[in-house]
Amino acid sequence: MFLKYFSTKKTSQSQPIPGTDQVRNSAGGYAWAVDDWKRLDRFLILGSEGGSYYASEQKLTVENAEAVRRCIAADGARVVARIVEISDAGRAPKNDPALFALAMAAGLGDVATRRAALEALPRVARIGTHLFHFAQYVEGFRGWGRALRRAVADWYNSRPIDELAYQVVKYQQRDGWSHADLLRLAHPVRPGKQDLYGWIVDGWPGVGDEPHDDPELRLVWAFERAKRASSAAEIATLIRDYRLPREAVPTQWLTDARVWEALLADMPMTAMIRNLATMTRVGLLAPLSDASKAIVAQLADAERLRRARVHPIQVLAALKTYAAGRGVRGNGEWQPVGEVVDALDAAFYATFGNVEPAGRRLLLALDVSGSMAGGMVGGVPGLTPRAASAAMSLITANVEASYAFVGFTADETTRYPGAAISPLAISPKQRLDDVERSVSNLPFGGTDCALPMIWAQEQHVEVDAFVIYTDSETWAGKIHPAQVLAEYRQRMGIPAKLVVVGMTSNGFSIADPNDAGMLDVVGFDTATPNIMSDFVRESLEYVA
Ligand code: CA
Repeated sequence: MFLKYFSTKKTSQSQPIPGTDQVRNSAGGYAWAVDDWKRLDRFLILGSEGGSYYASEQKLTVENAEAVRRCIAADGARVVARIVEISDAGRAPKNDPALFALAMAAGLGDVATRRAALEALPRVARIGTHLFHFAQYVEGFRGWGRALRRAVADWYNSRPIDELAYQVVKYQQRDGWSHADLLRLAHPVRPGKQDLYGWIVDGWPGVGDEPHDDPELRLVWAFERAKRASSAAEIATLIRDYRLPREAVPTQWLTDARVWEALLADMPMTAMIRNLATMTRVGLLAPLSDASKAIVAQLADAERLRRARVHPIQVLAALKTYAAGRGVRGNGEWQPVGEVVDALDAAFYATFGNVEPAGRRLLLALDVSGSMAGGMVGGVPGLTPRAASAAMSLITANVEASYAFVGFTADETTRYPGAAISPLAISPKQRLDDVERSVSNLPFGGTDCALPMIWAQEQHVEVDAFVIYTDSETWAGKIHPAQVLAEYRQRMGIPAKLVVVGMTSNGFSIADPNDAGMLDVVGFDTATPNIMSDFVRESLEYVA
């Protein structure tokens, strides 16, 4: 009877393991709290948009921001460096959390931190929209003092004039901010740029028939001409001759295939991925068409994907929507082109870059419990943590030779096998949207993250590393995951490791931070597959 209530080897998940610093998670079970730096990473990569199953968007945002604030107080320079590292490498699906954290550092840090944050602005706010987001966020933490105004002025002054012209034409306004607003605040002065700055703030008095004298300002001239164009052919010519982006084309022309054909010739990668449905609807993308061929070729170009910082989540979101043949917000229907769908599927894997296989035996375990079907990942509507984790796990499966998939919930009545845990018949050879559908249709249940290890032990499955994709809101088991892993290592004689892939930006992990054989990583960090594989490959001498 005593051991039923108090044991360091076998403790119900509704109790903390005695002698550890486990904390109560949102589901009422016990897990470890991740430290503030890990929380910073989770926030930078996963954001808090849409909340999670257990926490509203508001609650999750406040918790994460509090952790960021504590990190800034502890080591502001480290926070800024981390923001730059993750943002600049395109490791996160969205740049907004990085901009928000940078605004916090620029407002709440000590003098050195504030300076470092403002110096980092051009590396984190790389496009006009980023700058507008930053302007909005930073007002929550500080006023428009001289240093901030100078940082914004530098953003404009330091760009080559043609590149700046492109930025102001493509990204005109957002969050109630326009370039004119920012220029009025920051008053940048730069010889050679006054004509452009003048146009941004007051417009030009007239726009003649002849292109601007300065070749670098002809894009602005073409933008003005496009406003009064009277035919699609005229628009297409302006696009071709002056690299006008889609945002500079009056919406009335955006239903014409000729206009899209001209745009496609010079379309940035992310815009191309976002506009596949529209280009199909207007008839430009069709089976075996030149446009389809061009797009398939671009999607297969891993180097180009990397340079454009295309994130796998963007590809996944595009694939999901495009293959469905109709918009999330009901904006029309289209007949998806098969070769484009396949190219998106392949591009998803390419966006992770070269993943080195670990060369060990892996059990990829997906938490498919109810909570994993709540909230959204990376701000993508309909992309739940469970669907996202299935996609994420396929990256590892794609490069490893020895792996198996299981999905687990918990069933109080059957401690293991049966309904609570089962092998999943998914593979990288299937298309991602099919895999996502099959995982989404699994029955819900409570959460017992110990099940993968219990199952492997019962079935005598030899595993070098368990990789569990979860929100760590485990509560339904009679033994903690860390305890059953210790049991597994001992009984099987394998120094098995555990990798916990955190799929929400909450503050919990089932990984014991004091066990060198356990690792916490952040789901949908593009660096995660390699971090995992390095960890799993390392020599396994640590085990007692
Ligand atoms: Ca759950």
